[in-house]
Amino acid sequence: METTIKTRLPRQRACNEKNEKGKICAGHLKRWYHYGADWEKQYGENAELYRCEKCKTVYLPNPEEEARTGTLAW
Ligand SMILES: [Zn+2]
Repeated sequence: METTIKTRLPRQRACNEKNEKGKICAGHLKRWYHYGADWEKQYGENAELYRCEKCKTVYLPNPEEEARTGTLAW
């Protein structure tokens, strides 16, 4: 199964991915803790990743929302 990866909008809590019928998913975004080695390699051990509980789309943290690590400070 292919994983869709999106960037979270500020304070976004519901999935805005569209399903194959063009309807908004609206599933709840849950903090995803056990994301496995591949993701760890790319985003670090303590990445703030979220995943839709309905369609499993993965949401990356929004860079405009406070950057907790400091490495994203432009
Ligand atoms: Zn969804």
